[in-house]
Order: sequence, then C-alpha cells, then structure tokens
Amino acid sequence: MESDTYKNIVVTSKQASLLWRQIPAPQRGEIIREFGNELRKRKKELAHIITQEARKITSEAEGEVQEAIDMCDFATGLSRQLYGLTMPSERPEHRLQEIWQPIGIVGCITAFNFPMAVFAWNFCLAAVCGNSIIWKPSPHSNKCADAIKDVWDKVTEEHKDIVQILKGGNNEAIALCKDENIPLISATGSTQMGKELAPLVGARLGRTLLELGGNNAAIVCPTADIDLTVKGVTFSACGTTGQRCTSLRRLFVHEDIYSEFIKKLYAYYESLNIGDPSNASSQLGPLISEQSFNVMQEIIKTMRSKGVKITGGERLEIEDPSEFYVKPAIIEVDRIEEEMMNETFAPILYVKKFNDLKEAIKMQNEVKQGLSSSIFTNDLRESELFLSSEGSDCGIANVNIGTSGAEIGGAFGGEKDTGGGRESGSDAWKTYMRRVTATVNHGSELPLAQGVEFDES
Ligand code: NAD
Repeated sequence: MESDTYKNIVVTSKQASLLWRQIPAPQRGEIIREFGNELRKRKKELAHIITQEARKITSEAEGEVQEAIDMCDFATGLSRQLYGLTMPSERPEHRLQEIWQPIGIVGCITAFNFPMAVFAWNFCLAAVCGNSIIWKPSPHSNKCADAIKDVWDKVTEEHKDIVQILKGGNNEAIALCKDENIPLISATGSTQMGKELAPLVGARLGRTLLELGGNNAAIVCPTADIDLTVKGVTFSACGTTGQRCTSLRRLFVHEDIYSEFIKKLYAYYESLNIGDPSNASSQLGPLISEQSFNVMQEIIKTMRSKGVKITGGERLEIEDPSEFYVKPAIIEVDRIEEEMMNETFAPILYVKKFNDLKEAIKMQNEVKQGLSSSIFTNDLRESELFLSSEGSDCGIANVNIGTSGAEIGGAFGGEKDTGGGRESGSDAWKTYMRRVTATVNHGSELPLAQGVEFDES
C-alpha cells in the first residue's frame, strides 16, 4: 500500500465529513434519497456486476441492490428521527437531554458475499448521521465498489468525497484499524478476521461494530408444515450456494416426522437448478473460489471417513471449467460431530434427529457462533419457548421461516463469535453517533446533584 495514497484518503475523508456534518440531517436524507433513486434506475446493471463478480444468481443480485435501495429509504426517514431523549432532571429549573452527534469517519471492511448491501447498511446509517466512510471492500468485489462509488459521485459533486474506496487486502484493513482518525471500524467477515482486527482497534480504544461468521441452525417440530419447512430449509441451506453468513448449516428434526421430512428434502434438493448464475432459471451459481471448493471437499472427506450418510457435495462440470459448481450436500449424523461446530462457507447441511425440544435448543446453542436460528412449528408453546430467555441465544430467531433472508427494518447481527454488532434497521444508527448528555440550568441557583452541598462556610 502506498502510504501517501492512504494518507490522502483519510485527509480527504476527514475534510468531507466536516462539511457534510454541517448539512441538516433532513437535507442529508434528501441526498441519500437521490442516491436510492439512482440505484433504482440502475438496479439491473448493478445486479449484473454482482453476478459477474460475486457469482450470485440474478434474482439474489437484484435483491441485494433492492436492499441497498431500501436502506436509502430507511435512512431518508431516519433523517427526521435521530431522536434524543429528554429525561426529568432531579434539580429545579434544569433540563437533562441527550443529543446525538456525528462521530467523523467510519471505516468499513466488507466481505465478498454481500458486495453492495453491507456497504449500504453501513453507509446509509453513517451518512445520515453526518459521517463520511472509507470503504475497504473484499478483494473479490472491487468492481462492485467502483460501481457504487460511480452512482454516488453522480448524485452529488459537492459531497462525493464522503465515500472513499480503499482497495486492497489485509494491510489496508489493518491500517484502518490502527488509525486514530477513525473512531468506528465496522468489519464484516470471518470470525478469524474479527479476532485479528478487533484488538488493533481496542488498543487505541476505538469502537468496533463486528459482523462475523455464523453457524446457524433450524429446529423442525412435529406440528411443522412440512412442505413450507422443506422450502425454507432448502433456500437457507443452498441459497447463495451456502455462502451467506446466515446460511443454514445444522438442522434438527423431530424423530416423529424425520422419515417423511428427509424424503421430501432429498427430493427438493434433486430438483434444484445449478448453473450459470446469469440464467434466470439457475438457483445456485458456483462457489467463489477454488479455495472454497477445497475447504468443502476436505470436510466431506473427513465426514466420509466417519461413515456417515452423505448425499451430494461433488463438483459439477458445467459452463466454464475454471469455475467451481457443486451439488449441495446433506450429511445425516447420529451425534454432534466436531466439524458441525465450525462454519464451512459452502452448501453443507448437517441433519440430526431429536426427541426433546429443550435438547434441540441446547444443541443449537452449543456452537461458538450466535447469528441466526429458526424453529418450524405450529405449536405456540414451542415457538414461545424458542423466543424466550431459555430459547435461541442468537441475534436472529425466526419462526416458520429459514435462517437467511433478513429484512432491513430490524437490527441485524449476532452474539458470541459473531461479534455482537448490529447494523441496518431499528436503532442500529446509534452506533454511528456520539451520545452527548447535556444538562442545562435555566435558573439562578446552582443546586448540585444528589443533594451535595458545596457552600462557603
Ligand atoms: P474474510 O474474513 O476473508 O474477509 C472479509 C474482509 O476482511 C475482507 O475485506 C478482507 O480483505 C478482510 N480481512 C480478512 N482477513 C483479514 C486479516 N487477517 N487482516 C485484515 N483484514 C482481513 O471473509 P469473506 O470470505 O470475504 O466472507 C465470508 C465470511 O464473512 C464468513 O465467515 C461469513 O459468515 C462472514 N460474513 C458475516 C456477515 C455478518 O453480517 N455477520 C455478513 C457477510 C459475511
């Protein structure tokens, strides 16, 4: 990395943030609205770039651009709702109030699998809150970053510099994390990346927002609607070729319905269209790289040596021979295997029987990650248990839908090794601001809090 280039990016970003934060929030919201409108106009073109680069199927790529558009709408609304509370003061003629201020530059490190949406989650909130952003995209998605920057630059000449792209790999991410000019680092990627980068930010007492790996599970109960469940499970396990942080990796099915369920699941898997992601009929494109394929094969080899039942997992020679298309794998297990405890970023679904819901919830929570979870049931007591403090320990807990495919309106993120960060909807915007508690004395006396006396004797 050219250090002058890096310095220029930071200086430009800082100057841009000083101008941008002076614009009233609703006017910032208007500019973000225009950004959303431009994304709307260019939705198909942008989706095509995602398909080319991240190899997502067209429908999911368009969905990803839609997510960015939705975030713009959300931020525009938010621009008039960056509310601070007013609390009753214990002192007469005093007012106690919270004011939310911009924090400056947000450093944003993103993963390959959501090359536009994760930027939008961060940028729309950061920008409406009055901040600039330095975006270090995944080395796999530089074209997506260029395309987004191009859209932003067309929307505003005056404030184009609030979006800066820092291309590169680990060194660039590390530079951002060590940089005291950057109060918040939002990092999306593997747990290993989070564990390496968070201490660098922590060492300078900076703030982190971590969105790391998942190892998501679903529980299928006897009253579940089987056809709905099979579809939800298949989309979650196979969508984006198993390369979503929320992809379904572990499935616990009640023994009473196991045979019927697994039969239908195999049939649904058989019907999947695997092929060129730009073909409208394709449901699964290739894996992102040969390395991903090799990791998947290693796991399958190890599981095979344990004598468990494995269906799928093999490479399919379709289209370009340099690409790695795979048949999604189902691995039926009788006990929890070590391999199930880690996230393998590929379409492998482990399936295990259970007979007691509390035991299934325990198995679900037993992994280090805590991102997404689902229960399929029509029994209110089961779904309420799942959503209670004795239920799922994840940041996302769904009933009768799969683990993936979150809406932008809710806060997105997970616990434990997933990093604890929250992005997107609800009050996630607060992470991108500095909370100021202001006490105003509009009287002529100076009463002290807690009744403390400091009078001259
Ligand atoms: P990755 O960790 O390899 O890379 C993510 C980003 O971090 C990239 O920009 C990369 O350049 C940088 N990076 C990686 N290792 C680094 C290091 N040691 N030092 C400095 N920078 C480093 O992840 P990926 O393969 O691009 O994406 C897949 C992973 O991301 C999965 O684990 C997935 O679960 C996770 N993910 C999480 C979320 C979420 O919201 N929780 C969303 C998408 C992806």
